[in-house]
Amino acid sequence: MEESLKASIRKFALQNAVKYGGKANAGAVIGKILAENPALKENALEISKESGKIVSEINKLSLEKQEKKLQELAPHLLEKKEEAKEKDIFEFIGIREGQRIITAFPPEPSKYPHIGHAKAIIVNYELAKRHDGTFYLRFEDTNPELAEKEFYNIHIDNYKWLGIKADKIDYASDYMEEFYKHAEKIIKDNHAYICSCSSEVIKENRKDGKECQCRFNNPDKNMEKWQEMFKSKAGKYVLRLKGHMQSPNTTLRDPVIFRIIDMPHPRKKKKYRVWPNYDFENAIMDGLEGVTHRLRSKEFELRNELQRLIQTLAGLKETKIYEFARFNLEGVESSGRIIREKVKKKELIGWDDPSLTTLVALKRRGFLPEAIKNFVLSTGLTKTESVLTWDDLMAHNRRLLDSKCNRYFFVEKPKEMNIDGTPEQNVELKMHPEFKERGTRKFKAKDKFYVAERDFKEFKDGKLYRLMDCLNFKKAKSKFLFDSLKYEKYKERGYGIIHWLPVQKDLVKVEVLMPDKEIKKGLAEPLVKNLKVNDAVQFARFGFCRLDKKEKGKLVFWYTHD
Ligand SMILES: [Zn+2]
Repeated sequence: MEESLKASIRKFALQNAVKYGGKANAGAVIGKILAENPALKENALEISKESGKIVSEINKLSLEKQEKKLQELAPHLLEKKEEAKEKDIFEFIGIREGQRIITAFPPEPSKYPHIGHAKAIIVNYELAKRHDGTFYLRFEDTNPELAEKEFYNIHIDNYKWLGIKADKIDYASDYMEEFYKHAEKIIKDNHAYICSCSSEVIKENRKDGKECQCRFNNPDKNMEKWQEMFKSKAGKYVLRLKGHMQSPNTTLRDPVIFRIIDMPHPRKKKKYRVWPNYDFENAIMDGLEGVTHRLRSKEFELRNELQRLIQTLAGLKETKIYEFARFNLEGVESSGRIIREKVKKKELIGWDDPSLTTLVALKRRGFLPEAIKNFVLSTGLTKTESVLTWDDLMAHNRRLLDSKCNRYFFVEKPKEMNIDGTPEQNVELKMHPEFKERGTRKFKAKDKFYVAERDFKEFKDGKLYRLMDCLNFKKAKSKFLFDSLKYEKYKERGYGIIHWLPVQKDLVKVEVLMPDKEIKKGLAEPLVKNLKVNDAVQFARFGFCRLDKKEKGKLVFWYTHD
């Protein structure tokens, strides 16, 4: 039996299995096949035999595997699951009816957000929105050495693209007077002290669990030195929290909570010199905004105890923290430092290099924000690290793109061929096989065609091939001969169905940038000229692409996935 017919049986068997909890029914599958192509009735016996075989193979797979395979083969056949049936990933938090929920996501404006940030912002945002709560986007910009002006807007734009609508955008640097007020309360309560030891000594003592003399000054003396700190040169004093110098959690060993940094701040310029460190800023901000719940990645786990201690000492309400496993795709670079270096060395195009999972890269490659959201929510909130791959993300994207994208012909490395004996014909192809209303593309075909080099190389003597929706031909030594066999019959005997272009003047030069930065060149049908930058298409037998730019004499696409 011909491969494409077997593929159809497999497709329908998977669809039927997924629909009925993992078990497909051979009779239903045969029905679908014959309904799709009544001419196949003569082969009913053969089809029934093959269907039985394929169905029993597919029924051995788990429902999950069946869904995955169907998503790969024919995503449009996968019915969307009813929202209600979707597992509530926040169930474990146990939110009561009517409980007030406030969440926040706090990026530092120092690098481009990647898919890990997307997960953190989406889960916090979703948690608030599903309970009519409030969501803050908060810039943690109290380190003037790291905060950079350009990144504020980059974060805002990226999250907007993801569909996040923050109730308020907060800037920690707007709360400096609040930070000072809370610092003073903590000093007066004798829970913090000014330390004048060098950073090396502080580091060494923290390692050894040793207290320094500064710890024993009284609150009045500390208040005096705190005032002095604002006029001192950088490095002279730091404010340290009295934690536990022997705590097994080293973040609690009298951490520095304020230090002097002489560097203009992107928003506050030279207004402040004494800046809170991350833990103090984060704990106080959560308290000030009234953040009730926070979902964050596991790397912050150690800081929890310290941050809750700061909230308690400051007299603020504690935030409930939940951690989930670190999140990125296997083998993808996510370290800002390394990406920056590679961009400098031109090993990467930029932060939007197609090999990266920064949001700017995913967007430019043609990933849809809804697909990113569906994907990150599907990964749940467990602490167990799991290996996530591009395939997982692509499956979600493909499912959405498949119905959105119109089909076009792009012939990579075009080879011209002459098919002898071809009658002149007007060929009409659907923009999308399932949506008639999107119209058609029309070609005037004679006997000269372009096909992709990789197809051309595969043609074998005496075999029958078909140009999609156009004609059949046979290779005979160095010649190609028209063959008038009907399509239905071709399906049984033919070798493959190939996309093509008629040789004519108005074809469009196209370049496609692949994720490995290889550039594939070829020709596309004239209609692609009407596409707008950002439009997504499916090039038949090539893959999904996003139009990146229109240059003089050519269109440049970025490859999304197959
Ligand atoms: Zn000291």
